[in-house]
Amino acid sequence: MSNWPAWLPLRKDLSQMSVYGAPQVAADAQLNTNENPYAPSKELVAAIGAAVTKVSANLNRYPDREASTLRGKLASFINELSGTKFSETNIWAANGSNEIIQSLYLAFGSGKAIGFTPSYSMHPLIAQVTAVTWEAGKRKADFTIDMPSALAQIQKGTSLVFLTTPNNPTGTALSIDDLNSFAAATAKVGALLVVDEAYAEFSPLQSAVTLIEEFPHLVVCRTMSKAFAMAGARLGYLVANPSVIEAMHLVRLPYHLSSITQAVAEVALDFRKELLGTVAELKAGREWLSSELVKLGLTVVPSAANFILFTGFTITPAALWQKILDRGALIRDVGLPQHLRVTVGTQEENQIFIDALRAALAE
Ligand SMILES: *Cc1c(COP(=O)(O)O)cnc(C)c1O
Repeated sequence: MSNWPAWLPLRKDLSQMSVYGAPQVAADAQLNTNENPYAPSKELVAAIGAAVTKVSANLNRYPDREASTLRGKLASFINELSGTKFSETNIWAANGSNEIIQSLYLAFGSGKAIGFTPSYSMHPLIAQVTAVTWEAGKRKADFTIDMPSALAQIQKGTSLVFLTTPNNPTGTALSIDDLNSFAAATAKVGALLVVDEAYAEFSPLQSAVTLIEEFPHLVVCRTMSKAFAMAGARLGYLVANPSVIEAMHLVRLPYHLSSITQAVAEVALDFRKELLGTVAELKAGREWLSSELVKLGLTVVPSAANFILFTGFTITPAALWQKILDRGALIRDVGLPQHLRVTVGTQEENQIFIDALRAALAE
């Protein structure tokens, strides 16, 4: 939007920006923002209700500023998944991993930030809002990263390098060897390497958290919004060396994580087995969707996440997106030429999408 009123003292560098957000419209199959389609069980809803009731008795007081209990539980959770030995001092928690990313820019954005596009669109967007210079590196035609050229791009003056693995919106993932190479290259120029692992639970590859002990400048962003099926709770976390966590304290807002958020996230972690119990089914849904897309004559990008990027249709992505929505399935036009992205839903939702797509292509 550029028709801001003249009296509004908006920063010049923000005035040409448009507001981010996927369309939030009702549809039979909601497959556009990579959430887990399974709602919490009755037992979990009741446990969250009880926990919220309990903290509500003290809502006149500020929350635990350190979110100690929650950070301890998050450390145990990561240790359980990756065989690491982290404690509360290695964990930062915030209102979604987007807040974590914002804090990383605020604390460490003295030089430029680099990412490899197409990737998560919020990385450059939050850079702009925090006035950090962004440089877009490229990917190959198959959306993997060209390692020699990517590593050559990491020069002095870089303060942050973003990697998303599995990558959104492509689903491609980086091996632990490639992560190692990035860690070495960023160490050489004194930059922080930020590995965004929003979809790690869906990937068979080793997590970058296992490299933190060797590379203290490597930090890993995770979230409860995707596999963990808690997007509405807004809880993201950072796994990092304690010095990084100390620096996050400098830029956080006072009492940034409400008592209610902390309580809900703690209960969710107690129910982690149930919440992550749907991951295997979603991975099977991903394989089913891939094969159905191929049967329709389309091409899919191999995905290690809970979504699939596909191509091979002849009308514009915007036109196909609308035709699919008209038939009850909301997917995502990520702004990539000739591509659309679909989130894996329940089998019923996946079927609605495939039927809608088949009809749209036949029109
Ligand atoms: C969805 C997503 C996030 C999650 O953001 P939250 O603020 O935790 O909901 C972060 N990074 C990537 C790459 C994502 O796709």
